[in-house]
Amino acid sequence: NAQSPIQADSKPIAGVKGSFSERTFIAVKPDGVQRGLVAKVIARFEERGYKLVGLKAIVPSKELAEEHYGDLKSKPFFGGLVDYMTNGKAPVVAMVWEGKDVIRQGRVMIGATNPLDAAPGTIRNSYCQVIGRNIVHGSDSFESAEKEISLWFGKAGELIDWTSANEQWILS
Ligand code: ADP
Repeated sequence: NAQSPIQADSKPIAGVKGSFSERTFIAVKPDGVQRGLVAKVIARFEERGYKLVGLKAIVPSKELAEEHYGDLKSKPFFGGLVDYMTNGKAPVVAMVWEGKDVIRQGRVMIGATNPLDAAPGTIRNSYCQVIGRNIVHGSDSFESAEKEISLWFGKAGELIDWTSANEQWILS
């Protein structure tokens, strides 16, 4: 189903035996955009062999940011977090990446929420220092990937199904 935000049943990637596809929502947050780190984040996913199926720069509405971070509503930093995401000092670069185990792998590649706890080699360890400016977001579960993809890329045609010529080399 081309419009499905996520391939829920891990459908095989066309033409590649034994491979499975899922999608996750990854975003470079405004501090990452200001700091010129968009390409670095994209490169991590591209070079690993994941496939970009959606990309846009957007200043999210307050409603969108509040919904995105809905589970943190009661936290003392919630107001500041929503303001930082929405104040337009820089956009959010929102993306959907597809590939094998990409939801879990995306989290591993990004590293711990607090950059001081992030393992060497992870994005947060490589590029940031404090929890409130940790430059990148990644869905933390299948359910949040599904919710976040439809929240940020809900309009028809925003996600592109395409076949990467690399898939057969990466996956078999
Ligand atoms: P993650 O982004 O790793 O999934 P959470 O969902 O727990 O982490 O938090 C969402 C975002 O809220 C974090 O990435 C960070 O930007 C911000 N945040 C989390 N904890 C704090 C905190 N104690 N102080 C300020 N900002 C925080």
